[in-house]
Parts: sequence; C-alpha cells; structure tokens
Amino acid sequence: MLPSDPDVLVIGAGCAGIAAARALAARGRSCVVLEAGARVGGRAYTERDSLGIAFDHGASWLHQADENPLTPLARALGLALLDHDALRDRRLFAHGRFADAADRAAFTAAEHAFWTAIETAAADGAPDRPADQAAPRGGPWDATVAHWEGAQICAAELSRMSLHDFAATALDSPNLILREGVGGLVARLAEGLPVRLAAHVDRLRWGARGVVAQGAFGSIAARAAIVTVSTGVLAAGGMAFDPPLPDATQGAIHALPMGLLTKIAFRADDPAAPALPPFASLRRAVEAPGDRPMSFISRLFGEPLLIGFCGGAQAWDLAGDTAAAAAAARSEVATMFGAPAAAALGRATVTRWGEDPLFRGAYSHAVPGAQAARRVLGTPLADGRLCFAGEATHPRFAATVAGAWFSGIAAARAVP
Ligand SMILES: Cc1cc2nc3c(=O)[nH]c(=O)nc-3n(C[C@H](O)[C@H](O)[C@H](O)COP(=O)(O)OP(=O)(O)OC[C@H]3O[C@@H](n4cnc5c(N)ncnc54)[C@H](O)[C@@H]3O)c2cc1C
Repeated sequence: MLPSDPDVLVIGAGCAGIAAARALAARGRSCVVLEAGARVGGRAYTERDSLGIAFDHGASWLHQADENPLTPLARALGLALLDHDALRDRRLFAHGRFADAADRAAFTAAEHAFWTAIETAAADGAPDRPADQAAPRGGPWDATVAHWEGAQICAAELSRMSLHDFAATALDSPNLILREGVGGLVARLAEGLPVRLAAHVDRLRWGARGVVAQGAFGSIAARAAIVTVSTGVLAAGGMAFDPPLPDATQGAIHALPMGLLTKIAFRADDPAAPALPPFASLRRAVEAPGDRPMSFISRLFGEPLLIGFCGGAQAWDLAGDTAAAAAAARSEVATMFGAPAAAALGRATVTRWGEDPLFRGAYSHAVPGAQAARRVLGTPLADGRLCFAGEATHPRFAATVAGAWFSGIAAARAVP
C-alpha cells in the first residue's frame, strides 16, 4: 500500500532510507522509498542460502554500541546482543608462529602508540594531511597496526585518508553482535514501511517547487527527496540530477570515495579445518613491505564458519574475481594452519560490494584535505527539498550503520 501522492521520496532502502522513512512517519509525513534492488537493507545484508548459515555480507557489528541508535532498537525487538570484545579469543600470527604473551603485549603497546600519535596530530589544529604521515613508523609492529587500522578497518590505506576525518570517525567498543545478523535486524526495522523494490531511480529533477523521480517504474513527484545512495554510486553517475548538483556537493561526493572490504566466508565443518574456538579473531602480522595480510573471524555463535576479511587496495585488486579472492584467503589459512587445514575448508562465498553498481564499494573515507566533505554533502539543498543522507554524510559515525541511521533521521527532520 504505497501512497500515490507522497510528501517525500526516499531513494534507497538501506539503513539511512529506512531510518528516514520511520522518522517521516513519526512526523506525520507520507513517503515512498524507491529501492533499486530486490531487497531492503542495502549494505546491511544477512544471507543464509549460500552456506546454510547466517552470514552478514556487509555490517556485522554494532560499533560504539552505547551510542549506536540500533542498539536500543534491537533490544526493543527482544534480540540478544553479545559483546564480541568480551568473547573474542584474539590470536596474532607472526614470523611462522602464533604470538606469545610478550608479542601480544608489544602489539598492544604499538596500538596505543598509534592512537596517541593520531589523536595528538589531529588535535593540534594543524592543516590536514594523509593519516599515515601521523602514524608511528619503524617499530616492529607499526606496519601491522597501520594495515589493520587502515585497510582492514577503514577499507582503505591510511595514505588515502584525511587525518582529521580518520580521527573524528574513529570508533570504540562495545562492539555487539547478534545471531540474526545486522542485516536481519535492519530488515525487521523496515517491516511495514512503504518500500517499492526494483525501482531504480535513473534521474531526479529537483528545485524550489519539488522533485520528480524517473526510472523504468515511471515518474513520481513529491515535495522533497532524501537521497541515500552511496557516494560510489553518485560519483559513477548511477543517478542523474536535473539540474546538475552544485559544485560544492559534487566536490564533496568525489572527496568521499568508497573503500572496499571483501569478506570470504567458508564452511568449516571438517575436523581438519583450522582449530579455532567460537568468536575467535585472527590477525597476521605484516612481514615485509607490500605484505597485505587478511584477518579472520571464526565460528560466530558456534557455527562452522570462517570469515576472511580483505580490505583496501588488495580488495580492489581482487574485485570481480571471486575465485582469486577465495584462493588468496585459502593461501592465508595455509600459511597459518598448514595446507591440509586450508584444503579442508568448504566452498567459499565471496562478497561483491565493489563490482555491484548499486554500491560500488563498502564504505566511504575522506581524502586528505577533505575533512569538511561529510558536512558539505549533508547540507540540504533547495530549502530542504533535496537532502543527502547515508553513512558518508555523518561526521562522527561515518562508514557505519549508526551513521547511516542518524543521517536518515536528520534528513527526515530537514525536509519541509
Ligand atoms: C563488508 C562490509 C562490512 C561492514 N561492516 C560494518 C560493521 O560491522 N558495522 C557497521 O556499523 N557498519 C559496517 N559496514 C558499513 C555499513 O554497512 C554501511 O555504512 C551502511 O549499511 C550504509 O547504509 P546507507 O543507508 O548509507 O547505504 P546503503 O546501505 O548503500 O543504502 C543505499 C541503497 O540505495 C540503493 N540504490 C542505489 N542506487 C539506487 C538508485 N539509483 N535508485 C534507487 N535505489 C538505489 C541501494 O541498492 C541501497 O539499498 C560494513 C559494510 C560492508 C560493505
């Protein structure tokens, strides 16, 4: 039951679009959510068919859970949330063996030194610069920490990121997980909303008198639009604007490119598969210049699943070649656990965020010098008749479901 004459068009049914639609309803405004894909949730997507186990292709943690708007929403639905940090068995592999207590203490000290250096450099009001220039170098664990905080967490190398944006969007624990997956949670939060699937918006006309969305579905007019598609989609021209967007908005879109994080998930039922306990996390050290190790998570909720994470330039290099990505993950497993353990893993499921034209990456980062871009992109146009929302627009919780959700609510309040 979609309204035929909505007040607002919401473009995209990911976290931002779902939050916007809920907030508009709470304000007494009608809306239609136009979603190009065949499902809701966008980059929050839990899927069971390929491996027979719930697998989050996109978001899987509620980061900074005490401030995360999805935490109380999950609790209100009665979903059990587990603190992954409290459950994690953290393992580190370096120089042919698993790290001992002294190695782990040295690694933890390097992590502290990294964040002290970043926060100090970002707090001094100095001009922006690539984040790697503020990171410690030369210590035995520095390259590993930088690889982890850049490619593995932010889906892009520190050298590609604005120091100030990197520091402003850094997240802390608690990091909560739920058996239903973040995609499962977000799909529940979309229930009953006026979503039209398979409705790709090709063109949006906008101005002081309102908006008109056009696509194969026809044409729908409204007083205002909230656009939540990723900056990757916007930069690639996945949606045309008439008139063209102002230079400042276009500049902000291009200053917030998408990083890529690819997950490679294996069933690990075989007794010969890597011996890791439930909820374990595993990192391998950077051992030489150019080494780009993957990390792994094992057996969430006791399920026989091993998930590899490949981020940044390496993920882009492998995008579109699922066989190569799976082979690279198996090779990492073989390095740490031996070839028989790697061979005992089942068929892989590889996520495809980079090549999917509805996403074109995993999440955004600001390029050096562009620390203001998120606020610029989030600034309403035409007196609120065109608002951008989505993770890329949130200056604090960018790149996360929390930022997307908050931005959708803010946009719903900004439309007239
Ligand atoms: C691998 C991976 C791991 C992640 N891990 C975490 C994590 O653990 N925790 C966390 O908080 N976040 C994580 N994230 C990030 C989080 O998933 C995103 O920040 C968030 O889901 C983005 O929501 P959004 O609404 O901004 O955008 P999207 O989810 O991208 O929603 C935009 C929607 O617009 C649709 N669309 C695109 N073009 C059009 C068009 N022309 N017309 C109509 N519709 C269109 C898309 O299909 C999509 O559904 C992860 C992301 C990935 C990919």
